[in-house]
Amino acid sequence: GLATPTAVAVGTGLGAKRGILIKNGEALEKGKKIDAVIFDKTGTLTEGKPRVTDVVSCASDISREQILHLSASLEKLSEHPLAQAVVNEAKDKNVSIQEAHEFENLAGRGVKGQINNDIVLVGSARLMKEFGISPEACHDKIEELENQAKTVIAVSKNGAIIGILAIADTLKEDAKEAVEKLRLRGIETSMITGDNKRTAEAIAKQVGIEKVFAEVLPQDKAEKVESLQRDGLKVAFVGDGINDAPALVQADLGIAIGTGTDIAIEAGNIVLVKGHPLKVEEALALARITFRTIKQNMFWAF
Ligand code: ADP
Ligand code: MG
Repeated sequence: GLATPTAVAVGTGLGAKRGILIKNGEALEKGKKIDAVIFDKTGTLTEGKPRVTDVVSCASDISREQILHLSASLEKLSEHPLAQAVVNEAKDKNVSIQEAHEFENLAGRGVKGQINNDIVLVGSARLMKEFGISPEACHDKIEELENQAKTVIAVSKNGAIIGILAIADTLKEDAKEAVEKLRLRGIETSMITGDNKRTAEAIAKQVGIEKVFAEVLPQDKAEKVESLQRDGLKVAFVGDGINDAPALVQADLGIAIGTGTDIAIEAGNIVLVKGHPLKVEEALALARITFRTIKQNMFWAF
Protein backbone atom coordinates (compact mmCIF):
# COMPACT_ATOMS: atom_id res chain seq x y z
CA GLY A 1 0.00 0.00 0.00
CA LEU A 2 3.00 2.27 0.45
CA ALA A 3 4.02 1.89 -3.17
CA THR A 4 1.77 4.59 -4.67
CA PRO A 5 2.60 7.46 -2.32
CA THR A 6 6.26 6.53 -2.65
CA ALA A 7 6.14 6.63 -6.44
CA VAL A 8 4.41 10.03 -6.32
CA ALA A 9 6.97 11.34 -3.85
CA VAL A 10 9.81 10.08 -6.05
CA GLY A 11 8.23 11.62 -9.17
CA THR A 12 7.67 14.93 -7.39
CA GLY A 13 11.23 14.90 -6.04
CA LEU A 14 12.71 14.15 -9.45
CA GLY A 15 10.65 16.99 -10.89
CA ALA A 16 11.82 19.44 -8.24
CA LYS A 17 15.45 18.66 -9.07
CA ARG A 18 14.75 19.42 -12.71
CA GLY A 19 12.93 22.70 -12.14
CA ILE A 20 9.48 21.14 -12.53
CA LEU A 21 7.34 21.95 -9.53
CA ILE A 22 4.54 19.41 -9.19
CA LYS A 23 1.90 20.67 -6.81
CA ASN A 24 0.24 17.34 -6.04
CA GLY A 25 -0.05 13.71 -7.07
CA GLU A 26 -3.18 14.52 -9.03
CA ALA A 27 -1.09 16.70 -11.36
CA LEU A 28 1.11 13.69 -12.10
CA GLU A 29 -1.90 11.53 -12.77
CA LYS A 30 -3.43 14.09 -15.13
CA GLY A 31 -0.13 14.50 -16.95
CA LYS A 32 0.06 10.87 -17.98
CA LYS A 33 -2.60 10.98 -20.68
CA ILE A 34 -2.38 14.37 -22.37
CA ASP A 35 -3.26 14.41 -26.11
CA ALA A 36 -2.88 18.11 -26.88
CA VAL A 37 -0.86 21.04 -25.56
CA ILE A 38 -1.93 24.65 -26.07
CA PHE A 39 0.82 27.21 -25.66
CA ASP A 40 0.15 30.85 -24.92
CA LYS A 41 2.32 33.00 -27.20
CA THR A 42 3.59 36.04 -25.34
CA GLY A 43 5.78 35.23 -22.36
CA THR A 44 5.40 31.49 -22.88
CA LEU A 45 6.85 30.75 -26.33
CA THR A 46 8.38 34.22 -26.55
CA GLU A 47 10.52 36.01 -23.98
CA GLY A 48 7.73 38.48 -23.30
CA LYS A 49 10.17 41.38 -23.55
CA PRO A 50 8.83 43.26 -26.54
CA ARG A 51 10.68 46.17 -28.11
CA VAL A 52 9.67 48.70 -30.73
CA THR A 53 11.37 48.07 -34.07
CA ASP A 54 9.53 50.46 -36.41
CA VAL A 55 7.62 53.70 -36.11
CA VAL A 56 5.78 54.63 -39.29
CA SER A 57 3.79 57.75 -40.08
CA CYS A 58 0.76 57.30 -42.34
CA ALA A 59 -0.25 60.95 -42.49
CA SER A 60 1.77 63.55 -44.37
CA ASP A 61 1.55 66.19 -41.63
CA ILE A 62 2.58 63.91 -38.75
CA SER A 63 6.16 63.03 -37.90
CA ARG A 64 7.36 59.73 -36.47
CA GLU A 65 8.36 61.63 -33.39
CA GLN A 66 4.79 62.85 -32.90
CA ILE A 67 3.50 59.30 -33.21
CA LEU A 68 5.90 58.13 -30.56
CA HIS A 69 5.09 61.12 -28.37
CA LEU A 70 1.31 60.58 -28.50
CA SER A 71 1.43 56.82 -28.08
CA ALA A 72 3.96 56.88 -25.24
CA SER A 73 1.98 59.56 -23.41
CA LEU A 74 -1.01 57.22 -23.35
CA GLU A 75 0.86 53.98 -22.81
CA LYS A 76 2.59 55.42 -19.78
CA LEU A 77 -0.71 54.82 -17.99
CA SER A 78 -1.00 51.17 -19.07
CA GLU A 79 0.75 48.20 -17.51
CA HIS A 80 0.68 46.03 -20.62
CA PRO A 81 4.10 44.75 -21.79
CA LEU A 82 3.51 46.37 -25.19
CA ALA A 83 2.87 49.68 -23.44
CA GLN A 84 6.17 49.32 -21.62
CA ALA A 85 7.94 48.82 -24.95
CA VAL A 86 6.44 52.02 -26.37
CA VAL A 87 7.42 54.07 -23.31
CA ASN A 88 10.95 52.66 -23.38
CA GLU A 89 11.32 53.55 -27.04
CA ALA A 90 10.24 57.14 -26.39
CA LYS A 91 12.80 57.39 -23.59
CA ASP A 92 15.54 55.88 -25.77
CA LYS A 93 14.83 58.36 -28.54
CA ASN A 94 14.51 61.30 -26.12
CA VAL A 95 10.93 61.88 -27.18
CA SER A 96 8.93 63.80 -24.58
CA ILE A 97 5.94 62.31 -22.79
CA GLN A 98 3.06 64.47 -21.63
CA GLU A 99 0.06 64.02 -19.43
CA ALA A 100 -2.99 62.24 -20.81
CA HIS A 101 -6.53 62.46 -19.50
CA GLU A 102 -9.69 60.33 -19.56
CA PHE A 103 -7.50 57.24 -19.82
CA GLU A 104 -9.27 53.98 -20.58
CA ASN A 105 -7.76 50.53 -20.77
CA LEU A 106 -9.61 48.42 -23.34
CA ALA A 107 -8.59 44.87 -22.37
CA GLY A 108 -7.06 42.77 -25.13
CA ARG A 109 -7.34 45.64 -27.63
CA GLY A 110 -5.48 48.75 -26.48
CA VAL A 111 -5.84 52.11 -24.79
CA LYS A 112 -7.77 55.34 -25.27
CA GLY A 113 -7.34 58.82 -23.85
CA GLN A 114 -7.21 62.53 -24.38
CA ILE A 115 -4.00 64.45 -25.02
CA ASN A 116 -4.37 68.23 -25.22
CA ASN A 117 -7.75 68.31 -26.93
CA ASP A 118 -7.22 65.32 -29.13
CA ILE A 119 -8.76 61.89 -28.68
CA VAL A 120 -6.03 59.32 -29.14
CA LEU A 121 -6.36 55.57 -29.52
CA VAL A 122 -3.46 53.11 -29.49
CA GLY A 123 -4.12 49.45 -30.16
CA SER A 124 -5.02 46.60 -32.47
CA ALA A 125 -6.81 46.75 -35.79
CA ARG A 126 -9.83 45.35 -33.97
CA LEU A 127 -9.83 48.37 -31.66
CA MET A 128 -9.69 50.74 -34.63
CA LYS A 129 -12.57 48.88 -36.25
CA GLU A 130 -14.60 49.12 -33.07
CA PHE A 131 -14.30 52.92 -33.25
CA GLY A 132 -15.06 53.00 -36.97
CA ILE A 133 -11.51 53.99 -37.92
CA SER A 134 -10.21 52.69 -41.25
CA PRO A 135 -6.58 51.50 -41.27
CA GLU A 136 -6.48 51.99 -45.03
CA ALA A 137 -3.75 54.69 -45.01
CA CYS A 138 -1.36 52.25 -43.32
CA HIS A 139 -2.66 49.02 -44.79
CA ASP A 140 0.32 47.89 -46.89
CA LYS A 141 2.86 48.73 -44.22
CA ILE A 142 0.82 46.88 -41.57
CA GLU A 143 0.69 43.76 -43.71
CA GLU A 144 4.42 43.91 -44.42
CA LEU A 145 5.38 44.24 -40.75
CA GLU A 146 2.95 41.57 -39.57
CA ASN A 147 4.42 39.13 -42.07
CA GLN A 148 7.75 39.71 -40.29
CA ALA A 149 6.13 38.26 -37.14
CA LYS A 150 5.89 41.72 -35.57
CA THR A 151 2.92 42.93 -33.57
CA VAL A 152 1.57 46.09 -35.15
CA ILE A 153 -0.34 48.61 -33.12
CA ALA A 154 -2.08 51.53 -34.73
CA VAL A 155 -2.28 55.09 -33.47
CA SER A 156 -5.26 57.27 -34.29
CA LYS A 157 -6.01 60.91 -33.56
CA ASN A 158 -9.54 62.30 -33.63
CA GLY A 159 -10.88 59.35 -35.59
CA ALA A 160 -8.17 59.02 -38.26
CA ILE A 161 -5.24 56.69 -38.33
CA ILE A 162 -1.93 58.60 -38.20
CA GLY A 163 0.68 55.91 -37.81
CA ILE A 164 1.76 52.53 -36.60
CA LEU A 165 4.31 51.01 -34.28
CA ALA A 166 5.80 47.57 -34.88
CA ILE A 167 6.88 45.58 -31.87
CA ALA A 168 8.98 42.43 -31.86
CA ASP A 169 9.48 39.83 -29.20
CA THR A 170 12.13 37.12 -29.48
CA LEU A 171 11.25 33.46 -29.35
CA LYS A 172 12.60 31.53 -26.39
CA GLU A 173 15.66 29.57 -27.36
CA ASP A 174 14.07 26.18 -26.74
CA ALA A 175 10.57 26.94 -28.09
CA LYS A 176 11.03 25.11 -31.37
CA GLU A 177 12.58 22.03 -29.81
CA ALA A 178 9.81 21.96 -27.20
CA VAL A 179 7.18 21.71 -29.93
CA GLU A 180 9.15 19.13 -31.90
CA LYS A 181 9.59 16.87 -28.85
CA LEU A 182 5.86 16.85 -28.20
CA ARG A 183 5.16 16.09 -31.85
CA LEU A 184 7.48 13.08 -31.70
CA ARG A 185 5.42 11.85 -28.74
CA GLY A 186 2.28 12.14 -30.87
CA ILE A 187 1.00 15.11 -28.90
CA GLU A 188 -0.81 17.78 -30.89
CA THR A 189 0.32 21.38 -30.28
CA SER A 190 -1.38 24.70 -30.85
CA MET A 191 -0.75 28.33 -29.99
CA ILE A 192 -3.17 30.87 -28.58
CA THR A 193 -2.87 34.66 -28.48
CA GLY A 194 -4.69 37.95 -28.42
CA ASP A 195 -2.36 39.13 -31.14
CA ASN A 196 -3.49 39.45 -34.77
CA LYS A 197 -3.74 36.45 -37.07
CA ARG A 198 -0.91 37.30 -39.45
CA THR A 199 1.68 37.91 -36.71
CA ALA A 200 0.52 34.83 -34.80
CA GLU A 201 0.85 32.65 -37.88
CA ALA A 202 4.32 33.98 -38.66
CA ILE A 203 5.46 33.12 -35.12
CA ALA A 204 3.75 29.73 -35.13
CA LYS A 205 5.56 28.92 -38.34
CA GLN A 206 8.90 29.74 -36.74
CA VAL A 207 8.25 27.29 -33.90
CA GLY A 208 6.61 24.64 -36.05
CA ILE A 209 3.04 24.91 -34.76
CA GLU A 210 0.30 24.54 -37.34
CA LYS A 211 -2.82 25.23 -35.34
CA VAL A 212 -3.26 28.83 -34.24
CA PHE A 213 -5.98 30.56 -32.24
CA ALA A 214 -5.40 34.27 -32.84
CA GLU A 215 -7.23 37.46 -31.86
CA VAL A 216 -8.65 35.66 -28.84
CA LEU A 217 -9.92 38.05 -26.19
CA PRO A 218 -8.64 37.36 -22.66
CA GLN A 219 -12.00 36.07 -21.45
CA ASP A 220 -12.23 33.59 -24.35
CA LYS A 221 -8.99 31.64 -23.82
CA ALA A 222 -10.63 29.08 -21.50
CA GLU A 223 -13.39 28.58 -24.05
CA LYS A 224 -10.81 27.47 -26.65
CA VAL A 225 -9.49 24.86 -24.20
CA GLU A 226 -13.03 23.65 -23.68
CA SER A 227 -13.61 23.34 -27.42
CA LEU A 228 -10.67 20.90 -27.73
CA GLN A 229 -11.96 19.00 -24.70
CA ARG A 230 -15.35 18.69 -26.39
CA ASP A 231 -13.54 16.99 -29.28
CA GLY A 232 -12.50 14.35 -26.73
CA LEU A 233 -8.92 15.51 -26.16
CA LYS A 234 -7.12 15.68 -22.83
CA VAL A 235 -5.62 19.15 -22.92
CA ALA A 236 -2.65 20.75 -21.20
CA PHE A 237 -2.43 24.55 -21.27
CA VAL A 238 0.88 26.34 -20.85
CA GLY A 239 0.70 30.01 -19.91
CA ASP A 240 2.19 32.86 -17.92
CA GLY A 241 -0.28 35.73 -17.78
CA ILE A 242 -3.21 36.84 -15.64
CA ASN A 243 -5.20 36.26 -18.83
CA ASP A 244 -4.18 32.64 -18.83
CA ALA A 245 -5.43 31.74 -15.33
CA PRO A 246 -8.95 30.65 -16.37
CA ALA A 247 -7.51 28.52 -19.20
CA LEU A 248 -4.97 26.94 -16.83
CA VAL A 249 -7.84 25.95 -14.56
CA GLN A 250 -10.09 24.75 -17.38
CA ALA A 251 -7.35 22.55 -18.89
CA ASP A 252 -6.96 18.94 -17.80
CA LEU A 253 -3.45 19.95 -16.82
CA GLY A 254 -2.41 23.55 -16.22
CA ILE A 255 1.29 24.24 -16.66
CA ALA A 256 2.39 27.67 -15.48
CA ILE A 257 5.55 29.49 -16.50
CA GLY A 258 7.44 30.18 -13.28
CA THR A 259 8.71 33.54 -14.49
CA GLY A 260 5.12 34.62 -15.17
CA THR A 261 2.49 36.30 -13.02
CA ASP A 262 1.60 35.04 -9.53
CA ILE A 263 -1.98 34.45 -10.60
CA ALA A 264 -0.93 32.05 -13.36
CA ILE A 265 1.46 30.24 -11.00
CA GLU A 266 -1.35 29.87 -8.50
CA ALA A 267 -3.69 28.48 -11.17
CA GLY A 268 -1.30 25.84 -12.58
CA ASN A 269 -1.00 22.20 -11.46
CA ILE A 270 2.63 22.21 -12.48
CA VAL A 271 5.08 25.13 -12.52
CA LEU A 272 8.10 25.26 -14.81
CA VAL A 273 10.38 27.16 -12.49
CA LYS A 274 12.65 28.78 -15.06
CA GLY A 275 9.94 29.06 -17.69
CA HIS A 276 11.55 26.87 -20.35
CA PRO A 277 8.91 25.38 -22.69
CA LEU A 278 11.17 22.40 -23.31
CA LYS A 279 10.30 21.27 -19.78
CA VAL A 280 6.70 20.59 -20.85
CA GLU A 281 7.61 17.30 -22.51
CA GLU A 282 9.83 16.42 -19.57
CA ALA A 283 6.97 17.01 -17.13
CA LEU A 284 4.63 14.79 -19.15
CA ALA A 285 7.33 12.09 -19.39
CA LEU A 286 7.81 12.24 -15.64
CA ALA A 287 4.10 11.69 -15.11
CA ARG A 288 4.13 8.71 -17.45
CA ILE A 289 7.13 7.11 -15.75
CA THR A 290 5.70 7.68 -12.27
CA PHE A 291 2.49 5.96 -13.25
CA ARG A 292 4.28 3.13 -14.91
CA THR A 293 6.11 2.59 -11.60
CA ILE A 294 2.84 2.69 -9.69
CA LYS A 295 1.28 0.09 -11.97
CA GLN A 296 4.29 -2.17 -11.64
CA ASN A 297 4.30 -1.77 -7.88
CA MET A 298 0.61 -2.65 -7.77
CA PHE A 299 1.26 -5.71 -9.89
CA TRP A 300 3.94 -6.95 -7.50
CA ALA A 301 1.82 -6.04 -4.49
CA PHE A 302 -1.04 -8.16 -5.81
P1 ADP B 1 -1.45 38.51 -25.64
O1 ADP B 1 -2.36 37.35 -25.85
O2 ADP B 1 -0.37 38.53 -26.68
O3 ADP B 1 -0.92 38.61 -24.25
P2 ADP B 1 -3.43 40.69 -25.22
O4 ADP B 1 -4.68 39.89 -25.18
O5 ADP B 1 -2.95 41.29 -23.96
O6 ADP B 1 -2.26 39.86 -25.96
O7 ADP B 1 -3.58 41.85 -26.31
C1 ADP B 1 -4.01 41.56 -27.62
C2 ADP B 1 -3.71 42.69 -28.58
O8 ADP B 1 -4.36 43.88 -28.14
C3 ADP B 1 -2.24 43.06 -28.66
O9 ADP B 1 -1.54 42.27 -29.59
C4 ADP B 1 -2.32 44.52 -29.10
O10 ADP B 1 -2.55 44.61 -30.48
C5 ADP B 1 -3.56 45.00 -28.38
N1 ADP B 1 -3.24 45.66 -27.09
C6 ADP B 1 -3.53 45.22 -25.85
N2 ADP B 1 -3.12 46.09 -24.92
C7 ADP B 1 -2.50 47.10 -25.58
C8 ADP B 1 -1.86 48.33 -25.19
N3 ADP B 1 -1.72 48.70 -23.93
N4 ADP B 1 -1.37 49.10 -26.17
C9 ADP B 1 -1.49 48.76 -27.46
N5 ADP B 1 -2.08 47.64 -27.88
C10 ADP B 1 -2.59 46.82 -26.98
MG1 MG C 1 1.39 35.41 -22.11
